[in-house]
Amino acid sequence: MPRSRQSNRPGASGRGDQPDGDLDPVGRVEWLRERIRFHDRAYYELDAPVVPDADYDHLVRELRALESAHPDLVTPDSPTQRVSGAASTQFAPVQHRTRMMSLDNAMDVGELRAWGERTDRRLAELGLAGGVEYVCELKIDGLAISLRYESGELVLAATRGDGRTGEDVTANVRGVEAVPQRLTGEAPRVLEVRGEVYLPLESFHRLRARTEAENEEALAAGRRPRPLPANPRNAGAGSLRQKDPSVTAERGLSFWSYQLGEVVGAEPPPTHSGALGYLEALGLPVNPATRSFPSLDEVYGFCAHWVEHRHELDYEIDGVVVKVDDLSVQAALGATSKAPRWAIAYKLPPEERTTTLLDIQVSIGRTGKATPFAVMEPVFVGGSTVSMATLHNEDQVRVKDVRPGDTVVVRKAGDVIPEVVGPVLEFRPDGLEPWVFPADCPSCGSPLVRAEGEAQHLCTAADCPQKRWAAVCHFASRGAMDIEGLGEQQVQMFMDLGLIDDVADVYSLDYDRIGELRGYGETSVENLRTAVDASRSRPLARLLFGLNITHLGQAGAEALATSLGGLEAIAAAGIEDLSAVDGVGPVIAASVHEWFADPVHRGVVDRLVAAGVNTQGPERSVLPQTLAGRSVVVSGTLAAYSREEAEAAIKSRGGKSPGSVSKRTTALVVGAEPGASKITKATELGVPVLDEAAFEQLLETGELPS
Ligand code: NAD
Repeated sequence: MPRSRQSNRPGASGRGDQPDGDLDPVGRVEWLRERIRFHDRAYYELDAPVVPDADYDHLVRELRALESAHPDLVTPDSPTQRVSGAASTQFAPVQHRTRMMSLDNAMDVGELRAWGERTDRRLAELGLAGGVEYVCELKIDGLAISLRYESGELVLAATRGDGRTGEDVTANVRGVEAVPQRLTGEAPRVLEVRGEVYLPLESFHRLRARTEAENEEALAAGRRPRPLPANPRNAGAGSLRQKDPSVTAERGLSFWSYQLGEVVGAEPPPTHSGALGYLEALGLPVNPATRSFPSLDEVYGFCAHWVEHRHELDYEIDGVVVKVDDLSVQAALGATSKAPRWAIAYKLPPEERTTTLLDIQVSIGRTGKATPFAVMEPVFVGGSTVSMATLHNEDQVRVKDVRPGDTVVVRKAGDVIPEVVGPVLEFRPDGLEPWVFPADCPSCGSPLVRAEGEAQHLCTAADCPQKRWAAVCHFASRGAMDIEGLGEQQVQMFMDLGLIDDVADVYSLDYDRIGELRGYGETSVENLRTAVDASRSRPLARLLFGLNITHLGQAGAEALATSLGGLEAIAAAGIEDLSAVDGVGPVIAASVHEWFADPVHRGVVDRLVAAGVNTQGPERSVLPQTLAGRSVVVSGTLAAYSREEAEAAIKSRGGKSPGSVSKRTTALVVGAEPGASKITKATELGVPVLDEAAFEQLLETGELPS
């Protein structure tokens, strides 16, 4: 495990940053406070955190646990007792009339219930026992802001700072479109509203892409590249706190309001939910996901829902904020020195963690592509344990500058594949050398070649065992010939025994020999035989995809099978004929042509044909081509069609059915539980959103409902 170069260098908990030796509680408390302050400065003042939030939270929780076990060690300036952050001198200071606070948090349902019980107990002590109504809001991962309106005009915008003194960012906030400059309706003489300024994902990705492009130019000109914005929260905070307000304006920040502050000249509503309605009526944006519930069980259901659905939003959230609705009950509950007692933040599981990069290895794919991947100490992140992640190619490793022995940040967001974000440079041990791409294939020892202008290294040896193994695995995989019982382990075993050498051997397996193997009984041999036999009748596109032709994916294979009609015609086609097929570009065409020109490949194809695989493409569609050249996206569950059937219905009428909405989309068809982001995108782009009945009409007539 790596250690930081200086033992007093602050850093993440439990990994690469332990203090030298065991510390007694006093020493440990001091050590933790120093580290937390270091991270606070990096996060709040520099907008450039060193470690993921989960690591930081770990330090704070350890400090809190130690302080509660040793109350005599609690000091008023401990990070557990005050709002973290500070106002920089870059902006004029603003004194908040009422403090802007932090929030206590709950990591699981047990902690949520414990908060509910504490609240009930306190209310009982105050003689206020009775049912509590809760309001649940999304915890937007942005930057807290206080806006002051006088006679309906925005006059001041201030950051939280340390909770008492914030920064005057009025000029910058004027460039945030979602913040009204003027309130609508009957605005009171003074109104303070609090909310979150945040960077929507689209703006974040745009900023990242721009920085990447600028970095390429910088590298070409011999200048140092700028660090890429790590996440929307910090990029958003950095965007708001720009010296030049025009830079803030072009970044595309947005805003949700979530709390009413000072009101002069009007009677504010008695509940928080009422206050949110009041804010909305004045033209301030309130998040539409906000809900009220009479019990903590339902509150928890809301939290659990957002654990599952957080990625359907077009901005990031890191939790759900649960607030007591009745403002007089809120006032009775009061606050600690740091956070209100009437609210709690239910934190969503972290999607970024640190771990140790143990090694970088290279895997050889089915077409010989050599891909470096990270081997890491297993870490639980984004809902699963991660120990490996692709690093794509040599340049990616160089740009990220990750080295075996580094502490690295791993990100896994929902179903997305895990990614190594980068190293924590503060924890890099001395003398760690940059990783060098191996010269030879780890499987067969042949040289790994990187052609000029290509990002990828290739093992060009025809008989590389790993390449052959990957090729057979791919051939048998679900997207190709779909042979159940012929997975990675079985392919390896059959190869080791000399039963399989290439994909055509799948159809001449020695089942008697397999029956003698451990783990194979009569039934499993029979099942394998049946699965292999069944694969002979798979559509031609699957066979083509299974042949491991460089660059040829499922869509390209389908286009070839549909347009050219048969394997023989495809094998005999020239580059021009191939690239004339809609959906097949010149690169794929050249690759297909080259593949079939190779006598070894022709031999494999001949043996497959002799084994009786299907070589005929689908019958040409006889349906009217009502959707020719048009693109229809489907989202959610339809009643009369599975997703595949809906897509097939579109394609058989000449249309396309991609997975995402763009300017070129003709219509978005929505069933039950559609993706929220697709609907938002369609609405933004003015793409018609159709229900199932309108979809059927579109299929039949090609016309959109008026
Ligand atoms: P917090 O972010 O957990 O909670 C308070 C904040 O929540 C408010 O200030 C407000 O900005 C925000 N918020 C969003 N939606 C809200 C809503 N609907 N209602 C009320 N508030 C809402 O507390 P904190 O004290 O600001 O900061 C702690 C957070 O910052 C943690 O997530 C922590 O991990 C992170 N942090 C990370 C590092 C690091 O090094 N990675 C360092 C410091 C802090």
